[in-house]
Amino acid sequence: MRYKKLDAADLENLRDIAGRENVLVGEQIGEDYTHDEMPEYGHASPEVLILGRSTQQISDILRYANEYNLPVTTRGSGTGLVGACVPIHGGILLSLHKMDKIIDLDLHTMTAVVQPGVLLMKLAAKADEIGCLYAPDPGEKSATVGGNVSTNAGGMRAVKYGVTRDAVKGMEVVLASGEVVQFGGKVAKNSSGYALKDLMIGSEGTLGIITKLYLKLLPKPSNYVSLLMPFEDIHACLACVEKVLRLPEVCTTLEFMEREVLDDAQEYLGKEFPEHSAPSYLIVSYSANSKEALNVAVDACAKVCLENGAKDVLISDTAERQNTLWSARGAFLEAIKNSTPTMDECDVVVPLAHIAGYLDFVRELSAKHQVRIRSFGHAGDGNLHVYVCKDDLDDETWAATVTSCMDALYQKAIEMEGQVSGEHGIGHAKKNYLKQSLGDLQIDLMRNIKFSFDPNGILNPDKIFDL
Ligand SMILES: Cc1cc2nc3c(=O)[nH]c(=O)nc-3n(C[C@H](O)[C@H](O)[C@H](O)COP(=O)(O)OP(=O)(O)OC[C@H]3O[C@@H](n4cnc5c(N)ncnc54)[C@H](O)[C@@H]3O)c2cc1C
Repeated sequence: MRYKKLDAADLENLRDIAGRENVLVGEQIGEDYTHDEMPEYGHASPEVLILGRSTQQISDILRYANEYNLPVTTRGSGTGLVGACVPIHGGILLSLHKMDKIIDLDLHTMTAVVQPGVLLMKLAAKADEIGCLYAPDPGEKSATVGGNVSTNAGGMRAVKYGVTRDAVKGMEVVLASGEVVQFGGKVAKNSSGYALKDLMIGSEGTLGIITKLYLKLLPKPSNYVSLLMPFEDIHACLACVEKVLRLPEVCTTLEFMEREVLDDAQEYLGKEFPEHSAPSYLIVSYSANSKEALNVAVDACAKVCLENGAKDVLISDTAERQNTLWSARGAFLEAIKNSTPTMDECDVVVPLAHIAGYLDFVRELSAKHQVRIRSFGHAGDGNLHVYVCKDDLDDETWAATVTSCMDALYQKAIEMEGQVSGEHGIGHAKKNYLKQSLGDLQIDLMRNIKFSFDPNGILNPDKIFDL
């Protein structure tokens, strides 16, 4: 689709609409706004950066953009990993980080009402202060909740509480036309027609702009414990995943990692992990409201893993020990990035029974192409993060190698009835793989939905699929 380039009159009109102080152009726009956390997928500068301040202001901006055919890309914190917030057609980049108010923490309905620019870490801390838990726990705490909802972010606790989608009760949305609608709200359930709220979740700014969120709060568990279990045999390690999930006590997190990733994290953090001699590990954690309940869960998990190949069970039951464990886990992505000049990432999700087979395939691929590939994942929900690292390959070899590896990784996921993305989304980086995986019919259904929300295709165009 073709879009109008902004001229001086547009800029002046947008200054009137959005407030002069909120409209930035040229060198006023920092380099950060040209990419997300995967600059590997390319940089693009907006023609204008507008700081979103209110629903009314955003409505007025969209009304104008829609009338004059200007593309609008929304940005939260820019921590995405697929280029979703990058303004590939220029136009307007609308940053929502200033809309960061927690409007209400309503204990009657256990609902947090927030603006989209609230950071995940701020919401988590505020919920904690009032004895509540905001359950979604994606690794990057400086992401905005608007970004989390728009990518349907997952994270460590998804195995027990589900992903961000499961915590969204409702939202206010500005449509491309500038009209403001509310989907859902503080109600606990809703069976009133099509689930438009759910269409918005994971839509990466292509259907509307979220200006308010109603998010589910839970009572905060009082006790937490984490178990670190080393395994000599990776198949035994992964076979324990299903066994742990079948125990009556539901674990909060169930993560898998190999020693090489741990080595990268230790080097990156300059800290030693409590145990780092085994080839593979599971980290399982539980939360409960009494020590007794927690002990029952820990005993059952330790027993099943020790009987099935775990060499040991290291228990972290103090805040300090848990912090050591989880800070190392949280640093994996940054550690891998730091270990190589560039890399590419794949965020596939496969049925649990295929995790071990998928990782065997990853190792074969690494050997075949003589390239370093690192992987770790949310084993409890089959979501694997696989990183192909350039290291000292020359640019030409790297370009050919990374393409072959990524093609093979996504093809294998399709064969195993997996999906292209478990939690990071599609953006513009992964849309070819989405098309291959879902086929034309499903992409056409999505395109038709897009055009019924946004008939002129101005919202984050050519993301997820080509218009
Ligand atoms: C170290 C690290 C660890 C990470 N760990 C995880 C993890 O465990 N799980 C996980 O899922 N992700 C993870 N991520 C990825 C990233 O943090 C998430 O994708 C996050 O949800 C992006 O939020 P953001 O505010 O940075 O959004 P951005 O990157 O700014 O935007 C992401 C998308 O959301 C859209 N968007 C943002 N706000 C709105 C809005 N209000 N209305 C409409 N559209 C909007 C944008 O247009 C874009 O399409 C990680 C990233 C890093 C760097």
